[in-house]
Amino acid sequence: MLASRNAGKAREVDAMLAAYGIHVVPAFVGAGVVVPETGSSYLENAIAKARFVVEQRSQPALADDSGIEVDALSGAPGLYSARYVGDDPWNNVEAVLVQLLEVPWPARTARMRAVVVLATPGGRLYSAEGVIEGHIGMVPRGTNGFGYDPIFVGPDGRTLAEWSTDEKNAVSHRAQALRQLVAEWRAGEGA
Ligand code: IMP
Repeated sequence: MLASRNAGKAREVDAMLAAYGIHVVPAFVGAGVVVPETGSSYLENAIAKARFVVEQRSQPALADDSGIEVDALSGAPGLYSARYVGDDPWNNVEAVLVQLLEVPWPARTARMRAVVVLATPGGRLYSAEGVIEGHIGMVPRGTNGFGYDPIFVGPDGRTLAEWSTDEKNAVSHRAQALRQLVAEWRAGEGA
């Protein structure tokens, strides 16, 4: 089970784990369940979400807590990326662009960070983190992905929303974190 209501994230995680023969089912879709993200780190939030689903469903649960950190905004939106100025992703994208209006390209550095946690009914906990470095673009570009993808410019000058799904899923913060998590889980379970 994937402890998320974010459809974009769920699609990515499922596509990435398919390579390992693992499929995830979003646990909260249609259920109207909201796990309060009140932790002071991505890790705390991810653990809370994963444990919540294990308790509800008695099945292994995977959670991702992630965000975008803009250096010129002292690391904001960070932990609050999903609800920076509100719930609407485009309002949040616009808010970041407006706040960076006067900031020149070299100072528009940012990163996306993902922490993933796997919790098992037996009480085991695995976690891993991934980061991708980039810049905040001047205008949104591209239609793929979700969230801040249209303004996150990767190392090749294109935004993540201009990358194909396969390109993003090969190198993204979430992909790196999931690869490491699968390795730790296999080592831990002797799989
Ligand atoms: P949460 O982990 O559910 O609290 O939300 C993470 C938020 O960070 C998302 O709603 C997006 O706004 C942002 N975010 C995380 N990963 C990505 C990504 O891969 N692309 C674009 N935005 C992302």
